[in-house]
Amino acid sequence: MTLHLWSGTGMTQTKSKTEILSFTASIDDSIVEWFIKDKNEIIKRLTSKGFRKAAVMDRARELGLSEQFLKWCALGKPDVALRACLGCGERFLSVGVQNRLCPRCKNKSP
Ligand SMILES: [Zn+2]
Repeated sequence: MTLHLWSGTGMTQTKSKTEILSFTASIDDSIVEWFIKDKNEIIKRLTSKGFRKAAVMDRARELGLSEQFLKWCALGKPDVALRACLGCGERFLSVGVQNRLCPRCKNKSP
């Protein structure tokens, strides 16, 4: 394990560029992939790119990565990824290749 001496708050701030970083599909993918494996690693990676830790945590929660979900993942080791829903096409947190309907569509068609 490599530990970097990394300070999140002690960085010198350059205020020339205050662009708002947005979460792209590929960032969402890596959040899902890494939150299950190593939450701290992906937070470290994204914060080094300029994302705020709180924003990453919020995004993860939005994607469905709750503490409960992560605990459940640790037990069952499901094949979790963001997959496009077969009903509406929206990407959602799927727990296996057979899981292809988002919760909304699942509720619609019993
Ligand atoms: Zn759907």
